[in-house]
Amino acid sequence: MAIATINPANGEVLKTFEPHNDEEIALKLDLAEQSFQKYRFLSFSQRAGWMQSAADILLQDKAQFAKLMTLEMGKTYKSAIAEVEKCALVCRYYAENAADLLKDNYVQTDANKSFVKYQPIGVILAVMPWNFPFWQVFRFIAPTLMAGNVGLLKHASNVPQCALAIEDVIQRAGFPQGAFQTLLIPANKVANVMSDDRVKAATLTGSEFAGASLASVAGKQIKKTVLELGGSDPFIVLESANIEAAVATATTARMLNNGQSCIAAKRFIVAESVADEFEKLLLEKFQSLKVGDPMHPETDIGPLATPDILKDLDQQVQACIQNGGKILTGGHPLSNIPGNFYPPTIIIDIPPDSAIAKDEFFGPVAMLFRVPNIDVAIKIANSTPFGLGASAWTTNTEEQQRLIEEIEAGAVFINDMVKSDPRLPFGGIKRSGYGRELSTQGIHEFVNVKTVWVK
Ligand code: NAP
Repeated sequence: MAIATINPANGEVLKTFEPHNDEEIALKLDLAEQSFQKYRFLSFSQRAGWMQSAADILLQDKAQFAKLMTLEMGKTYKSAIAEVEKCALVCRYYAENAADLLKDNYVQTDANKSFVKYQPIGVILAVMPWNFPFWQVFRFIAPTLMAGNVGLLKHASNVPQCALAIEDVIQRAGFPQGAFQTLLIPANKVANVMSDDRVKAATLTGSEFAGASLASVAGKQIKKTVLELGGSDPFIVLESANIEAAVATATTARMLNNGQSCIAAKRFIVAESVADEFEKLLLEKFQSLKVGDPMHPETDIGPLATPDILKDLDQQVQACIQNGGKILTGGHPLSNIPGNFYPPTIIIDIPPDSAIAKDEFFGPVAMLFRVPNIDVAIKIANSTPFGLGASAWTTNTEEQQRLIEEIEAGAVFINDMVKSDPRLPFGGIKRSGYGRELSTQGIHEFVNVKTVWVK
């Protein structure tokens, strides 16, 4: 894929970039390694000052950054503004908490003194997707730099201006040269960078294919990886739920980021006794959403990020129909306007055990399943290869307990939508990946957990 800004709202190629060549990549790796040798010894308060400045710059220039995101990948401008604000939040969270999260942990043993010490390990590579072009990167930058590591970013090829803008924020914030750099490289150059001795570990957010490729290269080199991959999150609604609230949240949770979020609710699993009401209200909500220019303040859903995503989504919807699914609304790309637009779509009657029902749908398409009871709801919820998040709606505490215990996912949210929060760990199980980002667990992923014993 060319490294270029192509406006998904009209297909216009706005800017193309020459990828960094091997020599430039080598220079950046050198700089990263040299920077680490000094940066690792700086104090938490020094790093925290720069991290707070990064948050200040993000907030000060949020309109400019939000516009860039909307231009490159089509999210609505208002959601892009919220994304920049969340990036500032994660910077402040780690600026304020890293020293505490990484302080020596004393343990009573038969030594005079024994403790666990957390030390940085070096240059960390981040391979990131386009769907949250700032957030995905800042949730890497904040713990990585606060822990004393340095970062290299290979961003998705369709968001190069976001990648360069992020590098600029970090430099303007005052971090030393080389503490964070953007590599403008295609995916097929990632294995070489991963194999380089100066790179000590990597985190990848993206598809299963990309995750498996990177992890296999890293595995051969005995280097650690964190993988945040796809999801097909269930959204379970049982009889006691507040249906109106569930429908409102279901709509937000499915349409987040024009439907292109790993933790978007994708499969709606609803108790038969309330399914008619849920379906009727969801249909009304979906049909009331405005699709169009993502810069317009009243737009709810902008274009999908690339023509390929639009094509893949349409093929999945057609596969649902071939498997017996019925379309309640939407169901075809919008051909009357240029750009990668797909309307809000609801599909019912898909056999839950068909292969297509277990796929990840990366766009504004909801699959609706009716279930007789909680047992079947949990069975269907767990019947995908993924295990990222799950949202479940019930006021019955016994049911809540069962859902918390039995859902196979990295997160279960009761009576709310799945979302990330700097204070809580984020990540998946099964084919959604491994490792955690954010919170204590996130900053502990790329440190040497050193045992110290003094006699
Ligand atoms: P993708 O194709 O895997 O791209 C993600 C990143 O990986 C891009 O920078 C891409 O570079 C790079 N890449 C692609 N193939 C690679 C390879 N063989 N080796 C190394 N790097 C490679 O993912 P996508 O389809 O754009 O993103 C959507 C996927 O990401 C969905 O499955 C979504 O659920 C998942 N996601 C997960 C999370 C989470 O936190 N769990 C969050 C957001 C998204 P190029 O752009 O140059 O190809």
